[in-house]
Amino acid sequence: MAKYIDPKCRLCRREGEKLYLKGARCFTPKCPIEKRGGQIPGQHGKKRTRGRLSGFGIQLREKQKTKRLYGVLEGQFHNYYEIAIKSKANTAEVLMQLLESRLDNVCYRLGFTLSRSLARQLVTHGNILVDGKKVDVPSFQTRPGMVISLPEAAAKFDFVAPNLIEKNLPAKWLSRVGTQGKIDRMPTMDEIGSDIKVNLIIEFYSR
Ligand code: SF4
Repeated sequence: MAKYIDPKCRLCRREGEKLYLKGARCFTPKCPIEKRGGQIPGQHGKKRTRGRLSGFGIQLREKQKTKRLYGVLEGQFHNYYEIAIKSKANTAEVLMQLLESRLDNVCYRLGFTLSRSLARQLVTHGNILVDGKKVDVPSFQTRPGMVISLPEAAAKFDFVAPNLIEKNLPAKWLSRVGTQGKIDRMPTMDEIGSDIKVNLIIEFYSR
């Protein structure tokens, strides 16, 4: 399985904003974006400034940011776009729903972990059950009605246990009781988050 091995903080610094890829560290002053204010990575990063981007550059950066946010590589991200463009429904909504309904993202949205990368780790290590069966593929597409649960041993992991408190609510389109979550419905665009400009991504691929 392909995996991006560049340090995660570097990805945030490249995009100049927090992508919350490292769990608890992202919420502390140790976050490099807090310390260096989003300095561009690399030996000469200090001296480099973010110049004015062309229309293409803006579209490219939005696509790259979204890919990195969800931990998806180019081929798979493009596949999602192809599925969305062929759908009769709203392309932007379908694209975002495909990303949101990935198993790793659902585990993150259920509040099992503080980052998508930790959720991905839970899945790849075989710690997630879908309708009672082990599924270790992070890109597995979940559907409304499916039940996602954590076995007892996984619920005790130190990067999971503190999150399973009642106050840590799942996303509105999901429900969770203890270690068991359910997909009630697909998320709407409003619920997915306004910080992704999906139209720029669609414009990028439809050039
Ligand atoms: Fe991004 Fe988190 Fe690293 Fe901050 S600590 S740069 S938010 S991955």
